[in-house]
Amino acid sequence: MRKVINPTNKALLKTLGEEFIAPLLEVLAHARTQGCRVQTPQALKVVSATRQKVLVAAFAISLGKSNRKTFGARCNAAIKAADIADLAKLSGEYAAQVADLRAGRNPQVTVVVPKSIVALCKDIIYGKLFDHKDIWTALGLPPLTRTQFHENFRQDNGYPSTCPYCDLDTMNSEGSSVVEHLFPKSKFPLLSVDGYNLFSSCWACNGPAGKGNHTVAQLASPYDHEVGMLVDFKHDAAQMKLEIVAQSGRPDVDGYLQLLQLQIRYARPGVWNQFNSRREAIVESLQQRKFASLNELDAYVVKQQKGAVLTYAVAHWARAALRPAHVKRPRKGKP
Ligand SMILES: [Zn+2]
Repeated sequence: MRKVINPTNKALLKTLGEEFIAPLLEVLAHARTQGCRVQTPQALKVVSATRQKVLVAAFAISLGKSNRKTFGARCNAAIKAADIADLAKLSGEYAAQVADLRAGRNPQVTVVVPKSIVALCKDIIYGKLFDHKDIWTALGLPPLTRTQFHENFRQDNGYPSTCPYCDLDTMNSEGSSVVEHLFPKSKFPLLSVDGYNLFSSCWACNGPAGKGNHTVAQLASPYDHEVGMLVDFKHDAAQMKLEIVAQSGRPDVDGYLQLLQLQIRYARPGVWNQFNSRREAIVESLQQRKFASLNELDAYVVKQQKGAVLTYAVAHWARAALRPAHVKRPRKGKP
């Protein structure tokens, strides 16, 4: 539930979007209107010569044993199955969704993306192509493998161990072939390789125990918000249960908790036990120690956590529970 950054991957994927995805959508629509195949000069002329070079490299990539299973062949099959009017709207839709994400807004879906294009984006462009070395060579950039994506993400964020989505589990993505999509590729296929939509997370958050391929109407992004500071935790000692709730007036944070099933996941007995032993350890370490301000107490508690899971839950508890005994009251009469 930290706010995270991802400048290295975002820069690489921005180039991919501008030099490959956007021109590809134009060529797909143009080829369908012209009734020609995507690899032909007639279809390609709609984009600049440098962009044609990247597309030609992509179209040559083989996706299987047969020569007919190239990326170009998949594109031709996809547009053949799609409606001309639908294809014509994709470039505008892509630009609008990308602009929404960069502005910190939830991307709005205004056009139904044809099923064949959903499959192309999801299974082929994300599934097989975005980490293909031939694409990156054509772009004049070093290849971005999935392993490298996770490594860049970790490095940019100072090698955190906890999952940025949940603060409940260890980030399990080193060497992982799975990249997490905040807005799922089945519903937002045009954003399946957008740097603002991709994250490293734990397995639980990415799978059915977390968000799976669902989405909600309003959703806070960890690229824009430190969600851990926009929630309240309630400690139910009788039930031995930790409750997490969005602060009032934050439907985007409420959506986030719902989507990642964090109310259910935080309420588990194992989480309570871990939380409880952590706060006992902090109380023990404090003894008679006094802090000049609440901020100093916060800093101490966060340091004691050493980046472990549940840092936000423990820090939230410490602010309320430890303040009276361990933070000096400001002297009266002082300005
Ligand atoms: Zn997680």
